[in-house]
Amino acid sequence: MATQSEHFNTCFYCGCIATEYDLVPPLKLAEFYLTTGEEADFYEVPSCKECFDFLKVDKSALLGQRVDVAKAKLKKKYAKAIRVFQLWDPDELNDFDYNLKTSLSAGIQLGEESYARVKNKNFIFEVDGQKRHANYVKADKLSVFGEEFEFFPEALAYASKAYRVPKAKLSDLFAEHGNDFDNAIKAFHDEVEEKAFEKQCREFSKQHKLNLGFIIRIAKLYMKQDDELTLEAALVKLYETHIKKS
Ligand SMILES: [Zn+2]
Repeated sequence: MATQSEHFNTCFYCGCIATEYDLVPPLKLAEFYLTTGEEADFYEVPSCKECFDFLKVDKSALLGQRVDVAKAKLKKKYAKAIRVFQLWDPDELNDFDYNLKTSLSAGIQLGEESYARVKNKNFIFEVDGQKRHANYVKADKLSVFGEEFEFFPEALAYASKAYRVPKAKLSDLFAEHGNDFDNAIKAFHDEVEEKAFEKQCREFSKQHKLNLGFIIRIAKLYMKQDDELTLEAALVKLYETHIKKS
């Protein structure tokens, strides 16, 4: 039972209106836990219909485990809507015609609600008159080079603006780099640098009618041998060693 009235009839897992009770452990496993003495909570947990259904087949006997399962399923089911919510700026919507704008707005709203449900922290509760307020929802703070954020959309908006990486690209890189903004931003700038490097090498290769792969390989070798060497200097060296002489 929630200790504060504002949380009465609220789903412990996601914060929506509760209409069911999730039994922890499931009733059919109660006998097993009673007989074996294996650790189990024996709680009746207010739950919305959706979280209740998510947990229907789950066998976990501890509340914390069931929170993890419900959140993971919620996140998976609404992954697309959450992604739309995280990547779109409501101001950008004005560029679209009415129909598209309406359906995008609905998607964004669904994503926003789903995200809030995933992030919802469980309320403080009582069991047999004893107060418990363990927080079962992991507070995974997001860091962008030392700046901390609790919510992904804020972190993404900040990182995208401060480090000049388009949101959609940054979101993909974030996932590819173990949910780490620092590495994602670094990867983006490395990519940009690599492209600029290649572009310059390609121009040089056209100008001197030399194989591009060869130029890239030699330039990288020179730059590896001498940390201070810029690409321009490496290309000059390449010219003097391999072109001028021949
Ligand atoms: Zn729920």
